[in-house]
Amino acid sequence: MAEPRPSHFPPGTPLGRHFLVEGLVRLAEGRMFYLVNDDRHEQPQRKCWTCGHEGSPRTAKVCHACGAPLLPQRFLLSARWEMSAIRSFEQFAALRIEHPGLTAPVDVIRLEDQLLSVVSYRGEGLMLDEAAPLANQRLLQVAQRVLGTVVALGRRGVLIAPISRANLLLSPNGNVRLFDVNIDEITPGPASPARLAPLVRQVAALLRGYCHVQGGALGDFFDLVAAGDFPTPRDFGRAVESRFDAYAAMVFPPCLAGISDVGLTRQLNEDNWGWTTLGPKAELYVVADGMGGHDGGEVASRIAVETICQVARARAGQVGDRLGDIELMLDEAFQAANNTIKAEAERGGNDMGTTLVAMLLHGGRQAFIANVGDSRAYLFRDGVLHQISVDHSFVQKMVERGRLTAEEARNHPQSNILLRTVGTERDVEIDLFRVELEPGDRVLLCSDGLWGEVEDGDMASILATYSDPRVAARELVRASHQGGGKDNCTLVLVVVR
Ligand code: CA
Repeated sequence: MAEPRPSHFPPGTPLGRHFLVEGLVRLAEGRMFYLVNDDRHEQPQRKCWTCGHEGSPRTAKVCHACGAPLLPQRFLLSARWEMSAIRSFEQFAALRIEHPGLTAPVDVIRLEDQLLSVVSYRGEGLMLDEAAPLANQRLLQVAQRVLGTVVALGRRGVLIAPISRANLLLSPNGNVRLFDVNIDEITPGPASPARLAPLVRQVAALLRGYCHVQGGALGDFFDLVAAGDFPTPRDFGRAVESRFDAYAAMVFPPCLAGISDVGLTRQLNEDNWGWTTLGPKAELYVVADGMGGHDGGEVASRIAVETICQVARARAGQVGDRLGDIELMLDEAFQAANNTIKAEAERGGNDMGTTLVAMLLHGGRQAFIANVGDSRAYLFRDGVLHQISVDHSFVQKMVERGRLTAEEARNHPQSNILLRTVGTERDVEIDLFRVELEPGDRVLLCSDGLWGEVEDGDMASILATYSDPRVAARELVRASHQGGGKDNCTLVLVVVR
């Protein structure tokens, strides 16, 4: 089990010899990210980040040693606290490897229980903040850059651990750099291509999650890579090169967004989301909120999303247009997810389960919404947010019986008790809703980390303000933080065209 996350440094905290905390910008699993600057008024001298000279007075305009401008600067600081990660990163930092695809730390600060690595900051964004989908061209650039860096590090004997969204920095000009990676192993000689193969598969699986729902060709390519069809970085690199123009030419309108955020207090993100096309006329969108702790909740929600997408894809061709058949297929997909999770839970001897809310969008107009648990589906139409799904929770039952108001239910200490989940019983009963959609409608699927922190009215005003779904998705996550960020927050937003 991971060490607990330390409390965060408040703004104004001095760190190391040069830095002052401006604020915490984001949490990830195993990481806290801060913006810091070097404008420490109590320090008589300022460090030159060009040459390293520390003797110029604070008031100097240029470095007394090299003449470079000496302006206050901002940095991104990443704090980690897991001891194994700290030790391997210290070894890595000692190698001082420079590569254009890598953000080399300008400073590494070791505290008693944390390791802080500091990189210069020029307005880059964390991939963590980006809602899917990213443009195909961007995804291909990320693939090339990340794999190029993996290869360069491999030559130096550095094997990095699986890359997460938290390890990617995106600059406004389209550049991508790896940042603050975990190190798996440092070998005396260059790593063989075979040793890098797992990273190739893993990067492809990561980028797959950022493909547009209709970006089938690129998504399928990443799926093949993730399955091991292009095992070495070189194979992958060549394959990307040969497909670049064709895939990059596919441009999709901004009509959907998906994002998942760990929140401000949880260490683990046990939510998952996904989407897939089911042929030319239908798409499936899914959000799942897992439960069962480490090696439980995040596994259950991932299996649920993968299984429901796979089963629906496999069955879609046989179903056709009959609405009743579509509903049966959705039910079958939920049952399959239920059975797979239950089998996995029995094998692992735990009691993991998950909520699941799904929308099958047929012909661009007919929505079939199914849910189990308390992840919700909402319809946003003409400025008003309507809740479509009904929670399978203890407090919802109390509301239906008139014992609690909706407002009391939100803040009730037993609001987390679910009456139905996927993966915990032999069979699972799903609720189904049919909605006839209109152009301009938006459908929001979300975990309780969103609706539990943000009132419906506030969600509605965010949706009304931001027409770009990816921007709206980020703003909704931001609102969940402002609401307290006590839970993982995950959402999929679909704009009806
Ligand atoms: Ca939750």
